[in-house]
Amino acid sequence: KSNIRENYTFDNFVEGKSNQLARAAACQVADNPGVSYNPLFLYGGVGLGKTHLLHAVGNEILNRNPDAKVIYMHSERFVQDMVKALQNNAIESFKKHYRSVNALLIDDIQFFAKKERSQEEFFHTFNALLEGNQQIIMTSDRYPKEIEGVEDRLKSRFGWGLTIAIEPPELETRVAILMKKAQEAKVNLPHEVAFFIAKRLRSHVRELEGALNRVVAHANFTGKPITIEFVKEALRDLLALQEKLVTIDNIQRTVAEYYKIKVADILSKRRSRSVARPRQVAMALAKELTSHSLPEIGDAFGGRDHTTVLHACRKIKELREENLDIKEDYLNLIRTLSS
Ligand code: ADP
Ligand code: MG
Repeated sequence: KSNIRENYTFDNFVEGKSNQLARAAACQVADNPGVSYNPLFLYGGVGLGKTHLLHAVGNEILNRNPDAKVIYMHSERFVQDMVKALQNNAIESFKKHYRSVNALLIDDIQFFAKKERSQEEFFHTFNALLEGNQQIIMTSDRYPKEIEGVEDRLKSRFGWGLTIAIEPPELETRVAILMKKAQEAKVNLPHEVAFFIAKRLRSHVRELEGALNRVVAHANFTGKPITIEFVKEALRDLLALQEKLVTIDNIQRTVAEYYKIKVADILSKRRSRSVARPRQVAMALAKELTSHSLPEIGDAFGGRDHTTVLHACRKIKELREENLDIKEDYLNLIRTLSS
């Protein structure tokens, strides 16, 4: 019996700019396991849909071939099972079990860190599967090379196929996800309410789901219709927390720390690149993550004009598309600020 969760499918995975590539690669792999990208490595922060995509691939493979042997495995579980097998002198059948699959879906491989024996075993399994053209898909919360405590030869092999990032969903995708989940739960969620929630809660999909569940429970409980006012009440503590966390102040401090400069530099008139770029990043973040207006943001950045802020936002948007470093920096900062 397969351990693939039937409710995680491609059909109910909402596509957006942030997960498009990952979804497309996962689809291709599901269509042609072992043939197109092997291994496929998906990485990204918590709650962004990695586990969902793994199961979606599993379901699709099984739809096409009900006899296929597909195993989903959290890497912590892999480690536990292996330790047990070692204790029971059953390591041979453990190996055989994994080496007989059509597709092996290994989740959160950052948990292999510092587990040398498991890495060794996984390494052999990994090689055997690749040789047999059996599909491997792995996920992790970070880029393979950045996983500490995992052997270099293993990390470099992880990158042999295709490595793709899943990024935090942008506003439209967050709205679409909420609408989809509400529809699945047969709840009437007005679009403007979904927009309000998505606008306020920006960290990850799991948080959105949690918020929606709470709104729904509250609605069932009170029998009231779901309006923005209603949501403000139902999610009061969550929203307050969000407001408190992402302030311009906090953004300036976080950005200064990230680029190893001083907040005073950000507020100053200095124009050297090492200060001006972080300042622009901080302004763009302030626009994206808070509900302050351009003039308010300008004020908070040492009394600058609102057109300077606007220019910074445009510049950073442009740079994020053509400069990988800035793109990476920006995402890291968003992650830090909204976690
Ligand atoms: P991760 O494994 O990356 O931490 P999950 O796959 O567990 O994240 O996703 C968390 C929750 O959010 C799951 O319930 C999942 O169904 C949902 N989810 C994440 N991304 C999407 C998406 N694009 N469309 C629909 N649901 C999503
Ligand atoms: Mg997961």
